[in-house]
Amino acid sequence: MEQQKVIIIGAGISGLAAAFYIKKRKPEAKVTVLEASGRIGGKIKTVRRDGFVIECGPEGYMARKPALTNLINDIGLGDQLVHSGTGTYYIYVNHQLRKMPAGSVMGIPTKLLPMVTTGLVSPWGKLRAALDLLIPHVYRDKDISLKEFFERRLGSELVTNMIEPLLSGIYSGNLADMSLEATLPQFAAIEKKHRSLILGMKSIQPPKQAGTPKKRSGQFLSLSCGLDVLTEKLASYADEIRLNTPVAHVAPRSVTLEDGTVMNADAIILATSPKQFGPLLDFSEAWSLTNDKRTSTASVAFAFNKNEVEPIDGTGYVVSRKEGLTITACSFMDRKWSYAAPENGTLIRTYVGTADNASIVEESDEVIEKKALADLRKIGNIGTPLFSVITRQIDTMPQYTVNHNQRVQAFEDALEKMSGVYACGAMLHGVGLPDCVDTAMHVAEKAAKALTDEERTQTNSKR
Ligand SMILES: Cc1cc2nc3c(=O)[nH]c(=O)nc-3n(C[C@H](O)[C@H](O)[C@H](O)COP(=O)(O)OP(=O)(O)OC[C@H]3O[C@@H](n4cnc5c(N)ncnc54)[C@H](O)[C@@H]3O)c2cc1C
Repeated sequence: MEQQKVIIIGAGISGLAAAFYIKKRKPEAKVTVLEASGRIGGKIKTVRRDGFVIECGPEGYMARKPALTNLINDIGLGDQLVHSGTGTYYIYVNHQLRKMPAGSVMGIPTKLLPMVTTGLVSPWGKLRAALDLLIPHVYRDKDISLKEFFERRLGSELVTNMIEPLLSGIYSGNLADMSLEATLPQFAAIEKKHRSLILGMKSIQPPKQAGTPKKRSGQFLSLSCGLDVLTEKLASYADEIRLNTPVAHVAPRSVTLEDGTVMNADAIILATSPKQFGPLLDFSEAWSLTNDKRTSTASVAFAFNKNEVEPIDGTGYVVSRKEGLTITACSFMDRKWSYAAPENGTLIRTYVGTADNASIVEESDEVIEKKALADLRKIGNIGTPLFSVITRQIDTMPQYTVNHNQRVQAFEDALEKMSGVYACGAMLHGVGLPDCVDTAMHVAEKAAKALTDEERTQTNSKR
């Protein structure tokens, strides 16, 4: 029997994890990864310079989701896993850095005393937030925006001063557009079970995870060798990786490259950026995902000599939008990850660009760098950087807008009709690295099972 062929489109974490899981299930199949750009990794990119280890895309991942930790252990990188350092987290609001109240999770209070004493919210705002204890259900199995959900439960002041800066820092989206069910399903579930968010959040304890380092600190994990080592290692499981090979069209059992070459395969897995699904598949449900909102952001990492930066007791801060600054957040990377800077260095990473103000991302490196540095200096005592690294994500950050899950379901139902074609990636079931790996694993297992079934059918028909 001829060797079965699998084509994977996109060499980000999703495509490379899919390649690993296909090879794990079907080592005899030939797996080829086609990548449009000249490098593997997609949004994962690590720059090493003068002793600094600079993550230009994701820096780590949530420890409570096991898929990526399992994968890292499977490929033998478990000894490189590190927990982030912990420390105070701040919000810059009313021209001041204010501590995030202890016990707040994504800006949602779970402890009353720190909330009573915080200067982040006025007395009226605190009273309004406490009404969460009494308010009836807001989510009734019908998707609503994060803004509507949190404002109705906790009031607009808490949302503006605490929740919005944090969530838009993480998702770089507009809370008024973002889907509760798709972006933060855990909050919909908590409200469903406990009604009050404040009471419900108290009951959550992160599950213990096998294979993670014993010493616990931050809830975030990363690899001390740099995240690009993960993608390099995963890439080594594929039989072939073709860079600078953009795919133009996908049909059952064949893909057409931009240069017109047609390649045949028994299974095809799409793992591209969100905006590619429509053009590649060209059916209406795929276009509806492509036509959903995306944002553009950039991050600027500044490397300093330690004595150029007045230390603050914390790991970083987010900036409230009403401050009118260019930067939306700032991380003291070597406070979180000791390997990020040499002993005498400090690495500060800032983020610019929001759903409402993406134009800054189009500015020149010089302008972005100048504005980001000026903002840092408004907030802290910051000297002259040794160098900086700017990374742009233009129109590639998916926004899960209201009813996203329904659109994904319709897309997946329609895709079922394209025999042997599968899809994964950050567009579908979560943008976090563990979500991408989880989706890739399920899709790869489905594809591997279909290949095995096909093999059996062919063997039986020959008998
Ligand atoms: C700045 C930033 C910070 C982040 N921080 C975190 C974090 O700390 N933790 C976390 O969990 N997540 C984080 N995320 C999210 C996470 O990094 C992404 O969701 C994830 O990396 C997406 O992986 P992917 O493989 O699905 O897509 P991508 O990484 O976008 O890969 C898709 C690949 O497909 C290729 N491609 C596109 N079109 C074609 C085509 N036609 N033919 C062939 N190839 C094609 C692209 O070139 C690309 O290489 C962050 C994202 C960004 C941008």
